[in-house]
Amino acid sequence: MNWSTPMDDPRWSIVVHGGARTITARDQAANRAGCLAAARIGAEILAQGGSALDAVEQVVRHLEDDPTFNAGSGSVPTCEGAVETDAAMMDGSTLAIGAVAALSGVRNPVSVARLLLPEQTVLLAGSGAIEFARSRGVEEYDLPASAAADGEHDTVGCVAIDREGRIAVGTSTGGLPGQLPGRVGDAPIPGCGFYADNEAGGVAISGDGESILRVLLATRVIDALKVEEAPNAVSRALRQLSRVGGEAGIIAIDCKGRFGIDHNSEHFAVALAASWLPDGVAGVHLDEVKGYLTRG
Ligand code: ASP
Repeated sequence: MNWSTPMDDPRWSIVVHGGARTITARDQAANRAGCLAAARIGAEILAQGGSALDAVEQVVRHLEDDPTFNAGSGSVPTCEGAVETDAAMMDGSTLAIGAVAALSGVRNPVSVARLLLPEQTVLLAGSGAIEFARSRGVEEYDLPASAAADGEHDTVGCVAIDREGRIAVGTSTGGLPGQLPGRVGDAPIPGCGFYADNEAGGVAISGDGESILRVLLATRVIDALKVEEAPNAVSRALRQLSRVGGEAGIIAIDCKGRFGIDHNSEHFAVALAASWLPDGVAGVHLDEVKGYLTRG
């Protein structure tokens, strides 16, 4: 497949993550492959002139359906054995946000978040989120507690900019393994686990939710994107996490479509694709992809 577009065509780019954590050698190939397959789904939509919102939703749905990742069907259980998911979508053109928290019984929580985008309500939790999903015809689905739960947390996320310069972001997670029922992390909280603003860029984050919440990590990335390029902006923001400790991985795209990726976790599963990269590229560590960040 060749996603390159003629030089005079407006550019697009997309970056995907499958979680910031330690990824065992055995699982690294599945993490790379899962992220790359998802990025390619988004790339195809963007290359055909589709919207960043459509690309991000389809990418996150794909990751939710891949049991490699702690989201959707791969979600880890709470201490009571139930599955509670968090997800969000944001439209950087309008600053519309749709987010769901502690949502059970839905296969693709990101699509419930998308359904909330045009609504006045930003965030729905628990039974309210379930009721909303049902009222919109979302099918009931008994999410299995992931057999792959290995004591590690993670989250999936995607940031994209389309040919019209519209930026969108999506996140989805099963949260922390053994978390308290009702515990909500950073993934559905704007300014913490995600944000998108066409005038600055878009960001999605994985890692220790309580630390990310305390420093408003996504807000710090957006503020940095206003004054510097994406690769430097994410690193500057990540350094702020040292004030509270904890691990995180950050993906971002600035309003010119350039990538920013950084993490202080041992691994961070990512994939990126762009109109100027003829094929996608994936890695489980920044070193594997950093040669592609400054191109374009
Ligand atoms: N940030 C997620 C949470 O705290 C988990 C993760 O990304 O690893 O729920």
